Amino acid sequence: MATVHTVRGPINTSELGFTSMHEHFVYGFPGHQSDKSVDCFREARDLPILIEEARLFKSLGYDTLVDCTVSDCGRDHLLLKKISEAAGINIICVSGWYAEMYAAPAYWIGRASMGADIDREIYDMFVTEAEKGIGFTDIKAGLLKVSTSFNEITEYELHFMKAAARASKDTGRPITTHADGSTMGLEQAQTLIEYGADPQSILIGHMCGCTDTDYLKRILALGVNIGFDRFGIEGFDFMQTPTDGERVTTLTGLLKSGYADQIMVGHDTVRIDLGRPFRLSPAAQKFKDHTTPRIFTEFAVPRLLENGVPQSDIDKMTRHNPARFLS
Ligand SMILES: [Zn+2]
Repeated sequence: MATVHTVRGPINTSELGFTSMHEHFVYGFPGHQSDKSVDCFREARDLPILIEEARLFKSLGYDTLVDCTVSDCGRDHLLLKKISEAAGINIICVSGWYAEMYAAPAYWIGRASMGADIDREIYDMFVTEAEKGIGFTDIKAGLLKVSTSFNEITEYELHFMKAAARASKDTGRPITTHADGSTMGLEQAQTLIEYGADPQSILIGHMCGCTDTDYLKRILALGVNIGFDRFGIEGFDFMQTPTDGERVTTLTGLLKSGYADQIMVGHDTVRIDLGRPFRLSPAAQKFKDHTTPRIFTEFAVPRLLENGVPQSDIDKMTRHNPARFLS
């Protein structure tokens, strides 16, 4: 039986259970680490909030969460292990870096300008975090993550896509993606496949921001998986997303067309924003209040069933596909 690497160590795929494929316990835009003049994350104060969030997921029926926070956005494998142990829920972390449009750190480009072979170095980073562990611990990344900018894949991002495709082939770890604003999903899939990744080991993220079923079917025709992973993110211009009702309509159409084996779900929640606390505008606060882990099970599932989607399709998206994809 295949194993999956969680922050508490390897488990059998049969123990994954009901799985959300895209959430964040903590998250900050790259650069938050440098803002030392304000009271940021403090574990003694904030860990209980994160444990409470994990317990909320558990009470909604989730057995496993994939935390998609990448390194430069504050991935903390040791913190995730503490949350997982305290709440008794499986958490899987990723190896990856964020999109260039959100001010990628100069680190890799700086190295390249000094003559470093960053394609090899990024590949080594992915393989080390997947096979040996993160930060000299034995906590291994369960999957690799690549990110691309709105309407473009930059040269910087291409280094990660190439390296992730190769590392995925060599380690067997699947790849999840950030497709900004649901753009470049098709190009992400084509590029990762071109560089050697197995289509079944690719999950193109955030595609539920797109209501154009024909476009989604062109991506699915490549044999990759897509994420309906932003349930709860609606009503805020910055994100330019459809409503949850529109997501359910698009998803129903795809399921009735026979794509249940290639879709996985999540909310892309962020429980604690790292860095300087936000003072949200009323519109932003309303948006933030709506982003809860409740939306898929309490809003989407009843509507999908009402639309005539069989329970077996819900089970595929939340249980069978994650188990197959992650193993
Ligand atoms: Zn995310």
